[in-house]
Amino acid sequence: MQLHFLITSGQRATGAMFMESLNETVLAFIYPDEHKRTFHTFFCPSMRIVALSTEGQVVFDEVIAKWKWVRLPECRYVIETGPQVDYRPFMNTILSLSPALPQSGALEPGAGLDQLLFSLLAEAVADMRRIREAHQYKIDPKIQRQRFATWERGQIVSSAGFLLDFSDACHLPDGAVKLSHSVLKAEEPYIDEIVAASVGGIPWRQEFPSHCMRCGKPASWRPILSPKSNAPVEILWRYQRPENAIPICHHCTETLNLLRDESLQLDLVRGLWGPRFEALWQWHRAIRTKRLPKDWDPYTHPLWPQEYGGEEWESGSGALKFAEPRPPHRVLRSEQHMQALRRGLFSKKFRGRQPGETPLQKLLDFRLDIPKGDSR
Ligand SMILES: [Zn+2]
Repeated sequence: MQLHFLITSGQRATGAMFMESLNETVLAFIYPDEHKRTFHTFFCPSMRIVALSTEGQVVFDEVIAKWKWVRLPECRYVIETGPQVDYRPFMNTILSLSPALPQSGALEPGAGLDQLLFSLLAEAVADMRRIREAHQYKIDPKIQRQRFATWERGQIVSSAGFLLDFSDACHLPDGAVKLSHSVLKAEEPYIDEIVAASVGGIPWRQEFPSHCMRCGKPASWRPILSPKSNAPVEILWRYQRPENAIPICHHCTETLNLLRDESLQLDLVRGLWGPRFEALWQWHRAIRTKRLPKDWDPYTHPLWPQEYGGEEWESGSGALKFAEPRPPHRVLRSEQHMQALRRGLFSKKFRGRQPGETPLQKLLDFRLDIPKGDSR
């Protein structure tokens, strides 16, 4: 077991962010005086947060598994550890350190915070500026829902959380902190969905190949399943996922009579996306019949509940690390998926030249560079 003290404001600001797991580590946040504090667990592993008063009395003790904001009562020491760790043996050491503390001042740029954090902060402030342009100083939830895409709203609340967390340590632009509070308050009812959308709902059509999967001519991506007309705007991003779409040209749409042939639409999308479409389909069915699993954790599986897909992207996982939109390269297709694909593509005669399987193969081979080692 390891004990780390986080004493300077820069150290405190980073905390457990970007750690894979806290395991045996004990992070002790030590402040010069007693205050109410807001911690966020964004980019943090599952952890236990314990807060202590100046006298060493435990005023807060909870295991936080989800990414969220945690409001702590008046406290001077905060401990973060793995959920199972017993921190008590360290308490005396932690408490004994307090007299030697330097007083915290405003954080100097570059001191302690690394480049990544500074660019995140700059982005967060820019997000708040956009909010102010859209709303002036009073946040109107209606404007927020109309004006911004769901994934943008997710990124904006993440930014707001960041800013609040840093607001003690850094000198931030006037108004940004107030706006952050208001945005979080306005978005609170939607927070799970919009944070999921901030990863899984980002636009992808510009980057994906857009030739027809049947004939290879210029095409557009056509969604297949549609939401109920009264579905809340916050869930619509899943219907805009690539797993619910096929690239098909006008000409082939006509030839196949695709718009009037639902089973052909399903053959094409199911054949193209295999288990990834099937997982999305299960979510679609469940949300219509209000049968989503109660224990679905959208912070670990933002796309769909864990039990709907396999373990890997190829087998339909909806896990956070596989949530960014990707083309159908290396999807695991069963023989049934291949049959569905062939039914869809070759059931009608081609007019003019016979294109064969080249356009489809190009589509299936296409991939984006997914950055490795992304520690989110
Ligand atoms: Zn076509």
